[in-house]
Parts: sequence; structure tokens; C-alpha cells
Amino acid sequence: MPPAMTAVLVIGGGIIGCAAALALTAKGLQITVIERGPLDPVGRGPQGSSAAAGILGAQLEALHGDNPLSRLCLSSRDRYPAWIAAITAQSGLDVEMRPAGVARVATDTASLRALEHAAAWQAIAGYRVEHLDAAGVHAIEPALADHVVGAVRFADDHRIDPPALMAAVRLAAARAGVTFRSPATVTRVVVRGDRAAGVLLDDGTVIPADAVVIAAGSWSSLIGETSLAPGAVQPARGQIIELHVGAPVVRGVIEAADCYLSPRDDGRLLVGSTVELVGFREGATVSGVRDLLTAALRLVPALHDARLNRAWAGFRPKTHDDMPLIGTVGIEGLVIATGHFRNGVLLAPITGEIVAALLTGGEPPVDIAPFAPRRSAPSRA
Ligand SMILES: Cc1cc2nc3c(=O)[nH]c(=O)nc-3n(C[C@H](O)[C@H](O)[C@H](O)COP(=O)(O)OP(=O)(O)OC[C@H]3O[C@@H](n4cnc5c(N)ncnc54)[C@H](O)[C@@H]3O)c2cc1C
Repeated sequence: MPPAMTAVLVIGGGIIGCAAALALTAKGLQITVIERGPLDPVGRGPQGSSAAAGILGAQLEALHGDNPLSRLCLSSRDRYPAWIAAITAQSGLDVEMRPAGVARVATDTASLRALEHAAAWQAIAGYRVEHLDAAGVHAIEPALADHVVGAVRFADDHRIDPPALMAAVRLAAARAGVTFRSPATVTRVVVRGDRAAGVLLDDGTVIPADAVVIAAGSWSSLIGETSLAPGAVQPARGQIIELHVGAPVVRGVIEAADCYLSPRDDGRLLVGSTVELVGFREGATVSGVRDLLTAALRLVPALHDARLNRAWAGFRPKTHDDMPLIGTVGIEGLVIATGHFRNGVLLAPITGEIVAALLTGGEPPVDIAPFAPRRSAPSRA
């Protein structure tokens, strides 16, 4: 990277683009975020990030095993308190980050044993894992149905409110000097020789720059000249239902096999979520809402009287192996930061830090080889 590099374009104003912008501006670079959609002041735009449930479930995710993604999630969770403190100080906005814990419940003994087995490596590695039998889990969450036989509980996993986070992170970035250009749609990266030299917008405008970060979520591999294979990132639709329960029904986040519940301080309760490979078809569906409500009622029968507020759907950026694409692609000044699938909110702080390291000649805080963007090129055989 030449020392004269100052102007960076970040494509996408979701949580990953904003996290990258914040980290880059802290290094003294001049950042413009280009966002296709409107950036409304409360962060409730149509983007994936505001649609999320806001579970910072690093240990929940790590039930899939001790692998590079689990370690990335845990490293990002470590960074969250300081990251949020800085964003809150800069923006003056509360993002409702609560260390309420996450309980993964089971409804039969074999499933409970399997969960305990899956979490065993975490306890050995020094992370807090609570094993709860039926009495233990009902003592913490009395509203759970009788057929819940136990849980593994991660007291150090958190929850956050994504729309509030988006509003705060954008305000913090703007106050730190980041420029937002919206609505503006990038068609392709402009590459001169072997360098990224800017982007082309759909109205024909060329915006020159010294570097470009692709953080366009599910739409990332639709942008030209990124070196990503077509289809490297696919949308995975997720539906969420928002209930109003008045007095809190559950204390912390609860995840079961077929739904999760994530409470809010003001008496709302989010019920999520589907994972559907239906392209970019927008909106919640009758069957999605029915399935989630059925699962939620089975899990917490007291929800029968809850008020139904609304339902929505967003797109998770999915890759072929469900791991993010973070790194360089052989074009000088071009960095990819996308494909965070179901953990983009959780992974925002560490992704921002990695992007900043890559564009300032620093050492990324973790080994990013497993997340190499071009590993996802589909076989042409
Ligand atoms: C229902 C649901 C629940 C979820 N729950 C959680 C959770 O509990 N915890 C968690 O960590 N994660 C969760 N996620 C996942 C998380 O929301 C995503 O991983 C994250 O939002 C990805 O962020 P992003 O910034 O990469 O993408 P996005 O938020 O999708 O942002 C990409 C942005 O790029 C813009 N863009 C696209 N193309 C262009 C272009 N050509 N030019 C300009 N701009 C462009 C888009 O308009 C968009 O604003 C959930 C997702 C869903 C859908």
C-alpha cells in the first residue's frame, strides 16, 4: 500500500461497512461509505443488519466446534464492551447491550447430552458453561414449558438491539469524520493495472479512491470487478416476529431447536428465525410466521396472551461453507469484508479491526487465512 493512500470507499452501510469505516477513520484515513438504500435516523432501513435479532452468541455459535469461525466469534465478543463504550461515547446513544446470557435448551435427554458434549471444549478452554437440569433451567426461566429437560447456558453471551446499534454506529462514524453517500449504488470497482482506483455508480459517476472495501452483504458478489466468484455470497432470508409481552416473560436469550426468543427492555420479545434460500424474495410469509409462532408457543405457553406487533425478514450473507470472506484478492487496495451469515452483528468489531490492519500495513489480530475470500470460488467441473 503506498504511503500516500488516504481516500477509502466502503461499499455498504450495514454493520460491517460501518465497523470498517469506524476502524479506518481511527487510523486517520479519509472514509466515504456508499450505501444504496436510505440511511434513516433510527437505523430501521431495509438492510440485513437492522433486521437482526442482536444475539451476541459467540459460545452459542461455538457449539459447532473449536474451529476458526468459533475462535473469530469469541475474539469479537471480547472486543464488544470496549467497542460499544466508544460508540456510545461518540454518539450519545444507548444500544441496549445486556449481558443477559444465552441458554440453549433441550427437550429430550439425548439432545441435552449432545449439547453438553458439544460445549465440553469451551469449558476446557476456560469459557463459562453452565449445565442446567430441568429444575435448574426452570429456576432461571420459569416460563419455559415443562417438556424442557435442561440447557447449556452461556452467561457471557450478550444481546444487543440492532436498530439502535445501527443508529449509534452511523452517528459515531459521522462524528468521527466518515462521509455517507446515500442513496448511491455501486455497479463495479474501477481497477487500473493491478490496483483498485475507485468505483463506478449506476448513474455513470466514477468516484476515485486509493482503496475500496466491499461490505455489501448479500449483494457483494453482484458488484463487478471484485474478483469474487458469481454466487460467492448468497442471500439467506430470515424472518422475525416481534411480540409485546408487557412484563418480561424470559430473562435472557433462549434458543431451542426450532426457534429462539430474544427479549427487549421495553417488553418486546423477538421470535426468530427462519433460514431460507429463496433468493432476494422480500418480506415475512404466512408459513414462516405460523411456524415460528407455533414453536414459540410450544417453548413458552404463556405467550398465548402476547400482543403480535409485526413481522419482518432480512437477508443473511451466506457463503458455501458459512464462514465469512475477509481479506485481499490480489488487487492492490481492494479488501473484501462480507459473508458473515448469521453472525455479522457479533463479528463487526473484529472485522473492522482486520480491515483496518489490511489497509494500513498492520498485522491482523487473528489468522485470517481460513477466511480468504477466494476460497469460495465454486468448482467449474
Ligand atoms: C433474521 C436475522 C436475524 C439475525 N440475527 C443475528 C444475530 O442475532 N446476531 C448476529 O450477529 N447476526 C445476526 N444476523 C446476521 C446479520 O444481520 C448479518 O450477518 C449482518 O447484517 C451482515 O452485515 P453486512 O453489513 O455485511 O450486510 P448488510 O447489513 O446487508 O449491509 C449491506 C449493505 O450494502 C448495501 N449495498 C448492497 N449492494 C450495494 C451496492 N451495489 N452499492 C451500494 N450499497 C450496496 C445494502 O443496501 C446494505 O445496506 C441476522 C440476520 C437476519 C436476517
